Amino acid sequence: CGIVGYVGRPGHAHTALNVVLEGLRRLEYRGYDSAGVAVVADGAIDSRKKSGKLSNLLDEIEREPLPDAVTGIGHTRWATHGGPTDRNAHPHLADEGRLAVIHNGIIENFAELKAELLDAGHVFLSETDTEVAAALLARLYRSLADEVADPGQRLTTAMQRACQRLEGAFTLLAVHADAPDVVVAARRSSPLVVGLGEGENFLGSDVSGFIDYTRRAVELGQDQIVTITPEAMDITDFHGAPATGTEYQVDWDA
Ligand code: GLU
Repeated sequence: CGIVGYVGRPGHAHTALNVVLEGLRRLEYRGYDSAGVAVVADGAIDSRKKSGKLSNLLDEIEREPLPDAVTGIGHTRWATHGGPTDRNAHPHLADEGRLAVIHNGIIENFAELKAELLDAGHVFLSETDTEVAAALLARLYRSLADEVADPGQRLTTAMQRACQRLEGAFTLLAVHADAPDVVVAARRSSPLVVGLGEGENFLGSDVSGFIDYTRRAVELGQDQIVTITPEAMDITDFHGAPATGTEYQVDWDA
């Protein structure tokens, strides 16, 4: 339902967790039944997720604190596939916990893809369509190990290939422990906006997700993928061809 992503560098006044939680709070007005976050720190992914209000997630993080990180993603869920439980909340992990995915929308062909991934030996922990996208992305990421040396580029290429197989409406964000300062996102028939900062960049399902930090926004077009690092943003289509979004200044007061 609501999506936030962040990449920065150490030294900013805010951490990835601050930015992501503040963004989720801003997106609460859309309604949701669960919330979750993942951060990339010390070569690993760490995540927390809870059904119910954002305050449940905050309590959980207080009980089990997350490490300081400069990369993070956050999600508020409006359940479509699988009930509103802790387990079905996003992020969904794959690649032995080294990949985290959040998703808005519906993967229409998830049953067919899930059957294929089950055959290949994947073990699913939730009933969501989203976890199928995470498992597919992980499989493609692994299959590219020899072909694409740079892990961030490999994650982008894997996302392109995954999106070629996904049907439905989706905004997807992914982080991988191998690529600690990269967030890759994709969209089809579901909104995604990049927020451009200085030495940091943002993603949101709408600009409310990052309005406290920057007013420079880039709206992605249909069937586009964006890779953000603290210094750069790179947009392609689902086949890897360069693409551009629409840049604008957010001029309303939040
Ligand atoms: N279809 C996904 C789920 O049920 C995402 C729903 C959403 O947009 O929040 O988990």
